Amino acid sequence: MTKPESAVYDYDVVISGASLAGSAAATLLARRGVRVALLERRSDPAAYKVLCTHSLTANAYPVLEELGLVPELEKAGAVRNEARWHTRWGWIHPKAAPAGPALPYGYNVRRSTLDPLIRSRAAETPGVDLLLGHQVTGLIREAGRTVGVRASTPQGEREIRARLVVGADGKDSAVAKFADVPSQEYENTRFGYLAHFRDLPLRDGIAHTWFLEPDMAYAFPNDDGVTVVAVVPDKKWLPAFRADLEGSFLSFVRDLPEAPPIDSAERVTKIIGMVDHPLRSRRPTAPGVALIGDAALTSDPLWGVGCGWALESAKWLAEAIAPAATGTGDLDRSLAAYARGHRRRLTGHQKLAIDFAKARPFNPVERLIFSAAARDESLARHMHLFASRLIGPLRFLNPVVMAKAWVVNLRHRGA
Ligand SMILES: Cc1cc2nc3c(=O)[nH]c(=O)nc-3n(C[C@H](O)[C@H](O)[C@H](O)COP(=O)(O)OP(=O)(O)OC[C@H]3O[C@@H](n4cnc5c(N)ncnc54)[C@H](O)[C@@H]3O)c2cc1C
Repeated sequence: MTKPESAVYDYDVVISGASLAGSAAATLLARRGVRVALLERRSDPAAYKVLCTHSLTANAYPVLEELGLVPELEKAGAVRNEARWHTRWGWIHPKAAPAGPALPYGYNVRRSTLDPLIRSRAAETPGVDLLLGHQVTGLIREAGRTVGVRASTPQGEREIRARLVVGADGKDSAVAKFADVPSQEYENTRFGYLAHFRDLPLRDGIAHTWFLEPDMAYAFPNDDGVTVVAVVPDKKWLPAFRADLEGSFLSFVRDLPEAPPIDSAERVTKIIGMVDHPLRSRRPTAPGVALIGDAALTSDPLWGVGCGWALESAKWLAEAIAPAATGTGDLDRSLAAYARGHRRRLTGHQKLAIDFAKARPFNPVERLIFSAAARDESLARHMHLFASRLIGPLRFLNPVVMAKAWVVNLRHRGA
């Protein structure tokens, strides 16, 4: 007698990686009745991603709300992320229109605060088994389909079988590699270093981004009075920068227009960075496999979009596959719907990021829209919606907006 299908599997879904994407997906799937094993190679429940400037764009807000994390984030001191951006035409500072609705916002919140919070939300959700110290080391494949994972665990090697394996294991995704998912890689010709500071006042107490064409810099206020400062120069400066890392970092910040007073601030973390961070796009599904977060698409950190998309892609996946993951629908069709939605929503954004990662000055379209946004409040708000990833490139650069930008600049010249 053959076993019923559900008895063949230990879980409906196995997720590799319990960071933002994995923990969000586990919670949202389990709430829809899916039995989830959430595997994390690190054994500390409070582990967090160190290399991040942790500014969560406003597209993340609905997912944080659905996860029930907004009150806890506010209580933990997460900072609503209003920002001003320096350009050669002056500052762009998106503000709500008089008598208009408040601008959508996300949060600046350190990963040491966010990651344990979202992971414990997953762990306390009925239907999720959080398995710490479990590193996925291979996939179980049958008839060309993935039906589970092999993992090294504190108790030794283990196999876990499931209808679906989800790779939420970051930019170097082990699941993507073991499933032979095709990946495209694009050069990033900037490098970046960051550190956390206390007692670093910022004008209006809000986040600052400097577009220095091609270099970039950031200062984001976060929970507990900590400000993360990051510099992202053209790679041609790397050898000289590294020769005196601390001196180069501080002098880069000192030279910024309206520089924050870095010399009187207290540095509370090491200066850490990445010298090579290519962008990556992978096909988000394979038979029996789905990828979410950085595993599916790694963008340029300079746009601060990865956390928001990690959370959003977890939600898109849960919505697309939950019934089928429990065995009551067509899993392959659900996976195809997830893949289509992922591509439709993110491919355009990624194309712009790939082009901007060439460490070039603004192109003519960027010059038009950034200069006009520095001069016109409604265009500044429009830019905020794009930077928050609440609208895509087609709406951002639609002909009406471009015509308006052109008129704004013409009037400015006339004045
Ligand atoms: C310098 C820098 C600055 C950034 N700043 C921002 C920012 O300001 N805003 C923003 O939105 N994004 C930012 N990002 C991007 C952001 O950090 C990522 O997009 C985000 O962390 C992706 O989340 P994730 O859950 O997909 O993957 P990750 O956070 O990378 O998590 C992957 C998880 O998988 C686990 N794992 C890996 N392999 C295995 C395995 N084999 N088995 C089990 N577990 C495994 C890891 O331990 C980890 O917990 C930045 C990135 C960099 C590099």
